[in-house]
Amino acid sequence: MERVAEDVFGERIVFHADEDGNYYCPVCGLLWESTADWPPYSFALNLEHCLDCSTHIGNEDIEIPFNPNNPAPERWARLRRAWLEKHGWDPVLIARVEQRLRVRVDMPSDN
Ligand SMILES: [Zn+2]
Repeated sequence: MERVAEDVFGERIVFHADEDGNYYCPVCGLLWESTADWPPYSFALNLEHCLDCSTHIGNEDIEIPFNPNNPAPERWARLRRAWLEKHGWDPVLIARVEQRLRVRVDMPSDN
């Protein structure tokens, strides 16, 4: 399912969640089971670290002031690429991301 939030700068952000409404980390797709009040974007800063990719959600993944040319999906994609790079582009992680966040992961070509 999708849950929509608006951050303090007026950016409309779509998060993915499981059928119980628990959010997936928008960077790595980890299920955040203990965060019913997530996402952080309706208030100033939530500052929760993802337990897998360690992204500081509400801090590292925002740009102040909001830049419409750098929307949330692109900011997350950059963080995601760095995280996947660190994990050697593990196909299990790529599959998790693609399934839970409904994004396509383009692996870097090494030609
Ligand atoms: Zn994460």
